[in-house]
Amino acid sequence: MTPEEFRVAGHQLIDWIADSRATVHEKPVLAQVVPGEIRSRFESEAPGDVVSFDALLAELDNSVVPGVTQVQSPMHFGWFPSNASLSSVLGDIASSGIASLGISWESSPALTEVEEVVCDWMRQLTGLSDAWQGAIHDTASTGCLVAMLVARERATELAQNTGGLQGLSQPLMVYTSPQAHSSVAKAALLAGFGWDNIRMVDVDPDTFAMNAESLAKLMEADAAAGKVPACVVAAVGTTGTTAMDPVAAIVDAAAKHRAFVHVDAAMAGTAMLLPECRHLWEGVERSDSISWNPHKWMGTILDCSLLYMRDIDLLQRIMATNPAYLQSPTGDEATQYRDWGIPLGRRFRSLKLLFQLRLDGIEAIQARIRRDLANAKWFEEKVRAADGWEVVAPVDLQTVCVRYYPDGMSEGAELDEFTQGWARAINASGKAFLTASTLPDGWMVRVSIGVEATERQHLEDLWTLMQAAVAS
Ligand SMILES: *Cc1c(COP(=O)(O)O)cnc(C)c1O
Repeated sequence: MTPEEFRVAGHQLIDWIADSRATVHEKPVLAQVVPGEIRSRFESEAPGDVVSFDALLAELDNSVVPGVTQVQSPMHFGWFPSNASLSSVLGDIASSGIASLGISWESSPALTEVEEVVCDWMRQLTGLSDAWQGAIHDTASTGCLVAMLVARERATELAQNTGGLQGLSQPLMVYTSPQAHSSVAKAALLAGFGWDNIRMVDVDPDTFAMNAESLAKLMEADAAAGKVPACVVAAVGTTGTTAMDPVAAIVDAAAKHRAFVHVDAAMAGTAMLLPECRHLWEGVERSDSISWNPHKWMGTILDCSLLYMRDIDLLQRIMATNPAYLQSPTGDEATQYRDWGIPLGRRFRSLKLLFQLRLDGIEAIQARIRRDLANAKWFEEKVRAADGWEVVAPVDLQTVCVRYYPDGMSEGAELDEFTQGWARAINASGKAFLTASTLPDGWMVRVSIGVEATERQHLEDLWTLMQAAVAS
């Protein structure tokens, strides 16, 4: 493809994207397809012929889009808001267009230095001190794995340089809560801690936040038994209910054992753009690493996950590689992001944040987050006031967890079936999308508010749909 051909097709593609976004509310939210249906629309053998760009756009419309769950729809209340502000989409396109090779400072000084600048802006915008330095990773799962590897090496005084985990005589312990994201246990397993050495600390039965006293007791007992408390992962915004683990009490407990504390704020980190929400992660300055995803509620298109660390020297000692072909005449003066994480090559992801901050601006982003918080409060009150309905977890931010109790039904298998049933019915209609999930006493439905396009009217529509669903 020549630049001139690209120019023509590119204009068409931008129009296609703008049209898709302008009509997103007309499409079913949940993709209305069965497994294999999309695959079957494509020939099984690799194509030999080329087609026109028009034909390719038609293929996108007919064979691809039906298999896309429309998370930009204003009626998407499932999982979490996975916003993709169009300003950040432009930044993503610019990143592709610049087509840098991000393997060293030399291979694209701008890629490195704009990332440094933008990570520092985001640090300031979330109220963190200048003790923190950050980088952009693909996901919070990767961020958690990087944090675990650092925790492991810190606890073992860099055992990777000698016998690694295989040279240790005492097991290293990891602590998190059963409400933490599945990526936490996955990271612990991948980092070699082993399932037997992951402690699921109990949670407060009303708030679902980690019980810091239980954490302290478990760590004491482990230490007394000759084990090494190495790492605690605190969730600021758990997956199920967006519960807030008490970071200050957790860092106090961990400090006694010099255990590493990673704060997983993947979803809720966006709220820290609002000064009035920062009390929710009080104590965070004394943790060791923090990750959060601008690619969720804030609206920077996937993938854009920030990982901040206090001890960047330690991180670099663990991650550094310096083969001859990458050695740099700039020496230590330039940041080499390959030594801050797992991959060598990186994309110019910072442009997504740069575009969003320059074009939308932080004030508009903050106003949208405040709108979502107000919508969640409004929705919570509606549910609380209605007969048979209950809000089953605190609403700290934008997730409202609900249950409907038909006459005479209480917690148990029948209610679980009923709860999943009405959520499934709404999802199958394509009119809205919600996710059912579990709490210790059974199934509930999460209403996760915060899609860029979701206004109060959409919540009114959702509430009407929910009331009809439980009545039928
Ligand atoms: C979404 C989420 C994750 C995983 O995020 P990825 O970026 O998809 O890996 C981890 N932890 C929490 C609390 C989350 O909400």
